[in-house]
Amino acid sequence: MLVIQDLHKSYDTGKSKLHVLKGINLNIAEGEFVSIMGSSGSGKSTLLNIIGILDEKDSGTYELDGVPIEHLSEVKAAEYRSKFLGFIFQSFNLIGYKTALDNVALPLYYQNVPRKERNQRAMEYLEKVGLVQWANHLPNELSGGQKQRVAIARALITNPKVVLADEPTGALDSKTTHDIMKLLQDINNEGKTIIVVTHEPDVAAQTKRNVILKDGIIESDEFIKQLVL
Ligand code: ATP
Ligand code: MG
Repeated sequence: MLVIQDLHKSYDTGKSKLHVLKGINLNIAEGEFVSIMGSSGSGKSTLLNIIGILDEKDSGTYELDGVPIEHLSEVKAAEYRSKFLGFIFQSFNLIGYKTALDNVALPLYYQNVPRKERNQRAMEYLEKVGLVQWANHLPNELSGGQKQRVAIARALITNPKVVLADEPTGALDSKTTHDIMKLLQDINNEGKTIIVVTHEPDVAAQTKRNVILKDGIIESDEFIKQLVL
């Protein structure tokens, strides 16, 4: 599904170059549930953003579902993102003046899906995350966990090949974290490939494979026995 070879990334910080990723090799198959850990500044978000075609690598190769991700125009990058990827963020990134339903339906609007079908599908995905009765509420009327459920429904509605989550439970308490990880496990059990960046060992323990970044390379990459929640 996702093949990364000898990937490098530096940032130009004015005075010097900051070499963040120094030869990442990572192969993730369809249906995997992978967590990426590493200390703050180790390049987790940088790697996830490159995987998500939100940022560009300097060198190395990256193939997503057999497609080389290389020198893409903005239009092409946006097309691949909407075709292949779903995103979940720590801060939910919902649109405050739109209802839960409209937030979930938004990616379909950008794909020119007619309104009736958009709303129908958004309701299906709200049902999947247990929020049908909150469809017409605004984000500020929802709890953190409910907001993240809306964001998860929005990430899934285009049926992406891979779901990318950067610290999805970073703003949630431990009970809500548990509930959100259980939901991601259910989604993974239905066959969806999921990659989660986290600094919480408890969250990583609920995935099936844990990759640890250190000093710009993958320090360890282990399959783990998944906890049944
Ligand atoms: P955290 O756990 O704090 O989220 P992280 O592992 O996600 O950290 P990154 O955000 O990938 O780390 O950042 C890796 C390094 O690259 C950091 O030193 C950061 O300051 C630097 N960096 C990230 N983005 C940029 C940028 N756009 N320009 C310059 N430096 C950057
Ligand atoms: Mg980060």
